[in-house]
Amino acid sequence: MRIQYTEFVANPALRGTTTNLPAHIAQVLIAQGSAIALPRAPRGSAEWLAERLEESASFNPPAPAPVVTWTIGGGNDAGRPAIHAACSNANCAVNFRFDGPPKSDAKNVGADRVVFTHSCGLHAPEKVPAHVVEKYTAAYGNGMFPLTADEANVITFSFSKGDSGRHRDIDHGGGLKTNLAGEVGNPFGRG
Ligand SMILES: [Zn+2]
Repeated sequence: MRIQYTEFVANPALRGTTTNLPAHIAQVLIAQGSAIALPRAPRGSAEWLAERLEESASFNPPAPAPVVTWTIGGGNDAGRPAIHAACSNANCAVNFRFDGPPKSDAKNVGADRVVFTHSCGLHAPEKVPAHVVEKYTAAYGNGMFPLTADEANVITFSFSKGDSGRHRDIDHGGGLKTNLAGEVGNPFGRG
């Protein structure tokens, strides 16, 4: 609520100045005679918008800037090291975990390009700090880790030739397929 302090306000420095206060505080000052209410700017005008922003800022103080904590821990996948990150804002519920190669190349995003993206508000994504990349690179070593049971299964599955004696066709997700008549089929395999 926009008010202007009168000559009766206790602090002489405030006399004649205007401010925006939560209504319950402004009303006390007005009742005391320390301030008068100011008319609102015409609804929808730029001044009106500015007043609304000022007003909401007065009762919604901005949340503290989030702090991302980076750690390197053993993963539960065959003891591989992994980069973990957590935001100080509890509502930033990102379970961040990266266990890829330390260095990026043409095919892979490496630890040097890892970015933490906040879900707690309009905060810039945060790059993994250089000292964390260094630590991770050391922990990663030559990258020779035992496979997990799942990974071993996938490899066994893709190398198996089965009864046909041929490897499975691998669907690389090339989009819509046509049948022999040149008709476009349902990419999900039905119809
Ligand atoms: Zn966050």
